[in-house]
Amino acid sequence: MLNLIPKLIVPSVCELTPELLKEKNISLLLMDFDNTLLPYTEDTADETVLAWLTSVQEAGIRLCVLSNTKRDRAPAFCRAHGIDCITHARKPFQSGIRRCLSQYAAEGEVAALVGDQIYTDVLCANTAGLLSILVTPLHLHNVWLKLRHVLEKPWIAIGKRRLRSAET
Ligand SMILES: [Mg+2]
Repeated sequence: MLNLIPKLIVPSVCELTPELLKEKNISLLLMDFDNTLLPYTEDTADETVLAWLTSVQEAGIRLCVLSNTKRDRAPAFCRAHGIDCITHARKPFQSGIRRCLSQYAAEGEVAALVGDQIYTDVLCANTAGLLSILVTPLHLHNVWLKLRHVLEKPWIAIGKRRLRSAET
């Protein structure tokens, strides 16, 4: 059975403070790029996202973008901000995650993958045994993205229900 249920749901990456990541024993954060850090339609990130990236880097948490993209946007952004970047990751398949974990000599238990898509990011993280973190997509700029998001909603609802019951 495919595990499509996110373990953690936050509105934005900026909610993932160094304190929260350390509390969850995360020392390596893999990040989706498009619609997680930047909208598809922009080349620069919001100031609050840039400040968040710096705060996580300064806290000693290793950051690596893990993207399915074949374009140069993600590597260019990462070069500018001192972040490692793996493209052509083929999420939800495991090859990109395996490459990343071996690059950092890290076990899956200390790594999380944050992304905006259930059927790629969350599925990929759950299958690999990483903490799956779902964020709200930054900008659903076309009908296909909107439709896909509708198809994700049942899994998001289950994830939210589980998180609420874990709190009580
Ligand atoms: Mg994305």
